[in-house]
Amino acid sequence: MSPVKIVVIAVLLYFGYRLLVSDWNKKKENRTEDSSQNNLDEGPVADVLIEDPICHKLVPKQQAIRLKSQTQDKIVYFCSEECCNIFVRQEGENK
Ligand SMILES: [Zn+2]
Repeated sequence: MSPVKIVVIAVLLYFGYRLLVSDWNKKKENRTEDSSQNNLDEGPVADVLIEDPICHKLVPKQQAIRLKSQTQDKIVYFCSEECCNIFVRQEGENK
């Protein structure tokens, strides 16, 4: 087998693998959207990135810490408990 053939086969395998993985991820996303609609009040929770209002880091919504804001009347998301606590403290000061 020539080295060129090996490279071609490797590339084909790589793209085949990528295709399989992206397809599987899509199916997984759809499943989570379906199941989350029943128990969450604010629509489907896909794996979207949301910005932490404290450190402005982007975090996947599903892994973020949720907090119902008292002053803004909406749900805010944080990368960590730490940022959540800072936000709570700031809200307390603004009152
Ligand atoms: Zn943060």
